[in-house]
Amino acid sequence: MAKDNMPKTDFRDAILWHLTYTLGKDPDHAQIFDWRMALSYAVRDRIVDRWMAATRETYRADAKRVYYLSMEFLIGRLLEDNIVNMRLADEARSAIESFGLNYRSVLLDEPDAALGNGGLGRLAACFMESLATLGCPAYGYGIRYEHGLFRQSFADGRQHEAPEDWLQQPYAWEFERPEAAFTLGFGGRVVSRDGKAVWEPENFVKSEAFDTPVVGWKGRWANTLRLWSGRAVNPFDLERFNAGDFAAAAENEALARTISRVLYPEDSTEKGKRLRLTQEYFFSAASIRDILRRFLSDHADLRLLPQKVAIQMNDTHPAIAGPELVRLLHDEHGLPFEEALHITQGCVNYTNHTLLPEALESWGEDLFASLLPRHLQLIDRIDDAHAKANPSRKVAARGEGRVKMGELSFIMANRVNGVAALHTGLMKTTVFKELHRLHPERIVNETNGVTPRRWVHSCNPRLSTLITDTIGEGWVGDLEQLTKLEPHIDNPDWLSRFTEVKALNKADLCDWITRDHGLMLNPQAIFDVQIKRIHEYKRQHLNILEAIAHWQEIKDNPGAGWTPRVKIFGGKAAPGYFFAKDIIRLINDVSVVVNADAQTNELLQVVYLPNYNVTMAERLIPAADLSEQVSTAGKEASGTGNMKFALNGALTIGTLDGANVEIRERVGADNFFLFGMTVDEAEARRNVEAHATKAIAADPRLARAVDAIRSGVFSPSEPDRYAGIVANLTGADYFLVASDFSDYWRAQREVDRAYADAQGWARMAALNVARSGWFSSDRTIRGYMADIWNAKSLIGQE
Ligand SMILES: *Cc1c(COP(=O)(O)O)cnc(C)c1O
Repeated sequence: MAKDNMPKTDFRDAILWHLTYTLGKDPDHAQIFDWRMALSYAVRDRIVDRWMAATRETYRADAKRVYYLSMEFLIGRLLEDNIVNMRLADEARSAIESFGLNYRSVLLDEPDAALGNGGLGRLAACFMESLATLGCPAYGYGIRYEHGLFRQSFADGRQHEAPEDWLQQPYAWEFERPEAAFTLGFGGRVVSRDGKAVWEPENFVKSEAFDTPVVGWKGRWANTLRLWSGRAVNPFDLERFNAGDFAAAAENEALARTISRVLYPEDSTEKGKRLRLTQEYFFSAASIRDILRRFLSDHADLRLLPQKVAIQMNDTHPAIAGPELVRLLHDEHGLPFEEALHITQGCVNYTNHTLLPEALESWGEDLFASLLPRHLQLIDRIDDAHAKANPSRKVAARGEGRVKMGELSFIMANRVNGVAALHTGLMKTTVFKELHRLHPERIVNETNGVTPRRWVHSCNPRLSTLITDTIGEGWVGDLEQLTKLEPHIDNPDWLSRFTEVKALNKADLCDWITRDHGLMLNPQAIFDVQIKRIHEYKRQHLNILEAIAHWQEIKDNPGAGWTPRVKIFGGKAAPGYFFAKDIIRLINDVSVVVNADAQTNELLQVVYLPNYNVTMAERLIPAADLSEQVSTAGKEASGTGNMKFALNGALTIGTLDGANVEIRERVGADNFFLFGMTVDEAEARRNVEAHATKAIAADPRLARAVDAIRSGVFSPSEPDRYAGIVANLTGADYFLVASDFSDYWRAQREVDRAYADAQGWARMAALNVARSGWFSSDRTIRGYMADIWNAKSLIGQE
């Protein structure tokens, strides 16, 4: 690609042009929204040039394309990302300031696109950015939810959910593609005609495409994120309208749009909802058709499909894409079944994200048959073919009256990957043990990563400047260059600049929390942060129990030289997950009591910030001293929050779980606060009778903290408010909170001591930054390209 083929128009003029002619606003009357949109369009114009060039290049090279199918894309805001990647930051800032506006306020005016729940969706968004940075021809496919993840607020400490409406305003980045629509069938029956199975669906909806260009670092390449929206085939019934039945006249359209109306706010448990399966088929089927249409636009031989197409299924949500491709190749293009299956297996790959049994998707046969009758038949044939080729009948996609999406995905896939080394190993010995025995080459590991553009360069400009001043700018596109920082860490001047960065970031966070949440924090304290979905396995209740015990100890002995601490929580609970919601309320109740205690609040504060999202993560992570990664060993597949923190100079307190293991290996055991049981120890502990009561009896601090909750210290108006949590902690305690408590307490006091040595702490924090470069999603995507997709970059090395 030509290096500099953008029009030479002045960027400031381009903003004014869009303000006038796209938005129809006189600069004298423009609001911040208008300016933000005008700026976005001016940036977008430049991206479009790169985008079209990339598309032309992909066609010219007849390159293999990667298709990333994901039910979730947790995008966040795009304006700054795009400005930074297009190298327009200085121009954009000076233009905006020349109009008398505050640049940051304009950036913050953009709504946070939350088309995902948490880590899985954010991974998809980081991957899109890295695919573009690496010049790998790729499309992301998902659903254009009208309402993303709900907005969280607290009333009386309890989570309150309100609909999120990021699409209330026009979305600056997307292009509507009414011409790229498919009609998709649902339900009905399968009949036999001339000895062939013919699916006669009962209902039809249209999938309409909306394209967002995703541009990589330095604007060298851009790919497409294509999101599908539901539309009625016959949107309007004039006859009913003329008969006066106005609501019914638009009923078809309302029903069709329901499909893309809301994101399911479940991050790891499946509700057997018909609409959910409809959503899954809707976006998978539309995407598969689009992929085939693009392939057939310049190839005739369907047997070449695996050479030109790699499909990645982000978890099992798009698992129906496999049978759908078989169906199109066999039923509609007339290929023999075995050949259709073989071709499909050459294209499809599957990423597993969880080993939690309740999170492994499966559907009742009856529901499945009523929605996708032909696919159910094909799944039986797929199972038969698999059983015939493999001397084992123990594994099948269909069994016990259910369709199991994990097994289906595995059987259909060319490669199956886990998302961290530990997790991949556990896949082989637990959920996919038998399938792994049959297909020992299929499972590979691709440890997750995060994009350094968003998660260091943009969100932490002070650190970014220090790094660039020290080692040059190459690290942004090649994060492993961060190791070049190591020799500078022993230079006291450099280390004091590093310390200053964190102090200023903490001061910014304090200002924001004071302004937006009316709370004054002690900036000298350890900023101890746990931000992620609320889930029992992530053990926010372990963290709050430790806070309670800590508070009680400070009260016992206020002069013991405690290191001041601010505990910050953020995260949403699925609306139907009552235990998680109790944890939220408990943290809020504890924060009220602890923050009001004049005897201790110089030393300990607890803050729960509502509505955690990507934007909030970008604010909090650069200001964190301590990263809480305390999941029960074996339960967190990887985590990516853990990587963001380490890259921004926070030390981790964590268990040997997910990617924590690899983070610790890389940053060094001395620079990581490890505690808790290993996977094997946790397994063994669960088999100890009354393990929780025994652990509580053995640790007076824990016993006293549990007692405080039980007796209503934090809920005086309703002492038994937390009876459920107490019963769990003293009973089944499946996630082993009680059994890990003592060692967690020990590690936290080690944190206190380490923090008291400011130099020593800064050194450890800086080593975390210098040694975490491997956790770039560029490295992860290179791994997928080499091990899974066999895809090539279309841009050369710099
Ligand atoms: C990175 C990120 C996550 C994932 O966090 P984990 O700690 O890995 O669970 C979730 N939500 C948001 C908004 C994120 O940015």
